[in-house]
Parts: sequence; C-alpha cells; structure tokens
Amino acid sequence: MTTPLAFDLKPSAQPLSDQDRAAVLAAPGFGRHFTDNMVTIRWSEGRGWHDARLQPYAPLQMDPANMTLHYAQSIFEGLKAYRQPDGGVATFRPEENARRFQRSARRLAMPELPEETFVEAIDLLIRQDEAWVPNEPEQSLYIRPFMFATEVGLGVRPANEYLFMVIASPAGAYFPGGVKPVSVWLSEEYVRAAPGGTGEAKCAGNYAASLVAQAEAAQHGCDQVVWLDAVERRWIEEMGGMNLYFVEGAGDDARILTPELTGTLLPGITRLSLLQIAEDLGYATGETRLTKDDWREGNADGSISEVFACGTAAVITPVGSVKSTSASWTVGDGGPGPVTTRLRETLLAVQSGSAPDPHGWLHRVI
Ligand SMILES: *Cc1c(COP(=O)(O)O)cnc(C)c1O
Repeated sequence: MTTPLAFDLKPSAQPLSDQDRAAVLAAPGFGRHFTDNMVTIRWSEGRGWHDARLQPYAPLQMDPANMTLHYAQSIFEGLKAYRQPDGGVATFRPEENARRFQRSARRLAMPELPEETFVEAIDLLIRQDEAWVPNEPEQSLYIRPFMFATEVGLGVRPANEYLFMVIASPAGAYFPGGVKPVSVWLSEEYVRAAPGGTGEAKCAGNYAASLVAQAEAAQHGCDQVVWLDAVERRWIEEMGGMNLYFVEGAGDDARILTPELTGTLLPGITRLSLLQIAEDLGYATGETRLTKDDWREGNADGSISEVFACGTAAVITPVGSVKSTSASWTVGDGGPGPVTTRLRETLLAVQSGSAPDPHGWLHRVI
C-alpha cells in the first residue's frame, strides 16, 4: 500500500445556527436536510486517489458532457450514525458498506476506494457535524457515500476521472406513529435485475429502472413493489430497496428465511445482520428460494406466519398485504407479527447501544 491519503480539513465557517439546526432536527423527515459539510476525494487515471477534502456542503459545477449524465457510472451506499447512551456516536458495520462499495465499483468498471479511506471519510464528516446526530430514540444521521464519473466526453467507455463524496442528512423515526405494515404489489411485468446484470451492485441505474414499477404499485393502491426473478417471473427476490424475510411457523420454533443471494439481489447488511441476530435468539434460519405461489399457499395454510422487509433506512418493515394480477391476500393478521417485532427491537437496541454488541458491529466514531 502507498501512504494513506491525507485529508485537507476546511470545514464551513458558517454552520447553521444552533437554533436553526434544532428546528430541522425537530422534524427531520428523510433526505431533505443536509449537514454543514461534505467530504470529496478525486480519482484520475495515472494519479489514483487524491485531493481528499472536508469542506462546506455546496452545489457542484458540472459540464453538460459529464459522462455520468449520459452513461450512469454512479454508485452509492447508505448507513447511519447512532447516538450512544454515553453521548458518543457509532456507525453500524461501515466496513461492510466499504466492501460492498468496492464490489459495486468493480461491476461498473469504476476505481475501488480503499476500505480504510471510505471509513475515515465518514468518520471525519460525523466528527465535524456531530451536532447533527439526533439524540431522540429511533432518530439517526443518515450517511450517503457515493461516486460518479467526472470526465467530460461522449465516448462510451469507463471514465478516467471520478469523484467520491460523502454527505449526511438527519433522519427521523421511520414510523413516528408506531410501526405500520406496508402493502405490496408483485411486479409480474417489470423486473429489477437479470442474471449477469447489475442487481448486486448498489448503482443509481437500478433505482431509475425501478421507478415505473413503483408507480404501478401505487396505481394498484400498494406502498411498495416486490420483485420477482427475471427469467421465470415467480421467484421472490426483494421489495423496493429492501430485502425480504419470511417467518415459517411461530413462537420459539419459528424458522426465519430469506431469499438466497442469486446474483440478482442486493446483498443487504441489515439482511446479513438479521440472519445472525435470529440465530443468536435461537431461531432456525435459512437462505432459500421461494415462489410467489409458495408465499400465497403458505399464507393460506398458515405455515408462513409473518413477512417483513429490511434495510438501513427503514430497519424492519412488516408486510401486511399482497396484491398481484391474479391474487391478493393479507399476511397473517395484517399487523406486525411477534417475531418481526422482536427482531426489530433487538437490532435497534444493538445500534443504539442499549443492548450488548457481541459481534463488534458498532464502530465508535466519537
Ligand atoms: C441498499 C439496498 C438494500 C438494503 O441494504 P442495507 O445494507 O441493509 O441497507 C436492499 N435492496 C436494495 C435494492 C438496496 O439498494
């Protein structure tokens, strides 16, 4: 390895006033307000990573022929910083985000940022903007690392210049009025990812391609879309931007199942963590394949008792009802099930530091 990248620290001289920031933190919503600063690191062919800065949050200037605008070499990550009981701040498994970011970069023919630089960039921004980390339960500071091509030109090939950035946005409780199950639409027309495609990469293009299906779900009165596999259109893959879990059976004998990573699913860090947490709680777990008919029949005969989605932004979201062109059904009794609730509370307790962290998942920043 070469010498570690040195960051030039020039934070904002005019951060938002305590009073204005408090007004934002009173009702932060999601992704609407940003902290005072951001991190930027450049990469170019020949020079590699350079020009690492912490600087005031500000708009970017962009050439109309910026290659990202045309060919979408654009990847991102999402993780959260949580206030801890001693007043400090921790992130959750950021090295997993760093590694996934490297895998996404590889798939989109982009340069890989070293894991320690990724984590350090996030830590620097959190330390600088610590006042933006909420103190309220279930609130957090959402961290958005991302990278895109900055080379100017219309030739189709991997760009030879990129910009990595980290921005941060305070996030309110996802369910301020209590956990509310979502309704889902099984998308039989549109697919999210095909074998050999970019389904495993956290890239902007996957989201662009998903929006029309999300709109179709809304037209059918559903909150979210559930993706089926591209080939047979029957294997359950994931929900919107979250992974799915199925609870088979009930009580201590419940089995916690999630679709296996076939290359077309996004390998969620929440998904990975819940497999471990479920095991720690004594449940049987499994990565498996399940069709839409398995789901409908298992729901009808009671063998599938609960279904939930999981991801960093919304943690765990129960699925309350399902609709498709051919059938619709209520999942269990339509409310958040006991296993779903237990897993959600256990994960939140680890993240907020109110429960032990036996696997060393918390990364202390402050
Ligand atoms: C980010 C993401 C997830 C969830 O990943 P986490 O690491 O748990 O936040 C699931 N599906 C898609 C499509 C995603 O983009």
